[in-house]
Amino acid sequence: MALTDTKEMLLQAQSGGYAIGAFNAENMEIMQAVFEAAAETQSPFILQTTPSMLKYASADVFFGMARGLSLDYGVPVALHLDHGNSFAIAAKCLRAGYTSIMIDGSKLGFAENVALTRQVVDLCAPCAVPVEAELGKVGGKEEEIVTDDPGYTDLAEAEDFCARTGISSLAVAIGTAHGFYSGKPVLDLERLLQIRQRVNIPLVLHGASGLSDADIQNCIKRGICKVNFATELRNAYTEGVKDALQQNPALYDPKEFGKLGRARVRQLVIQRMLVCGAVGKARA
Ligand SMILES: [Zn+2]
Repeated sequence: MALTDTKEMLLQAQSGGYAIGAFNAENMEIMQAVFEAAAETQSPFILQTTPSMLKYASADVFFGMARGLSLDYGVPVALHLDHGNSFAIAAKCLRAGYTSIMIDGSKLGFAENVALTRQVVDLCAPCAVPVEAELGKVGGKEEEIVTDDPGYTDLAEAEDFCARTGISSLAVAIGTAHGFYSGKPVLDLERLLQIRQRVNIPLVLHGASGLSDADIQNCIKRGICKVNFATELRNAYTEGVKDALQQNPALYDPKEFGKLGRARVRQLVIQRMLVCGAVGKARA
């Protein structure tokens, strides 16, 4: 199956009252694990790469892996740039074949965020590639930037932002943070509901690693159609590799410890697809 884009996928999730899991695939084994989980549960899904991953390996490499795996598994999958931080990186990913682009101008002022986002929407529109943008600040560490004081998404700004930019989905800041949580996160669900009433495009939840199942489902009930999982996948993979090497310190074949990392990620992703309500939705 060819890579699909996220627009139809997210609109279907929106009308069906579920969410699509978006998983950051740092390497081939993590990517394989997400495909296996999706095929086993018949869940449509999104693979994502961040700018720091694209410094480690190129957009062409990640596209090649995603494309190759998509031929082996008959499940709808999109390849998405997560937290694109410049027009240039958005253009590079578009050229490589990515089917969905996020441009994150949330650290800019409102007018600058609108201008940058509009530029990327105009770039992607002729290729029918949808664009996600962010308004407000998700806390924690994303790439090199640490935010201690998350600014929640403003309702009037959200409505205005969508009208001015023509984006296909909007990432909102309602109290989640990137990375693992040190305390219990307090989500502003009322704000999410109010954003939903003003903005009719699919809404995106960042920083879901470590949220409870109930937290995630409460957000989906209030309009979230895409949930991003990154930190916990990296953790599951690395714990699997560490265990394999501890059990057998003489291991030297990357395939041998990679297998255990992959199995751990697969288990975790199946759980997350279930929580999102996406299981079985690939059959439609
Ligand atoms: Zn994020």
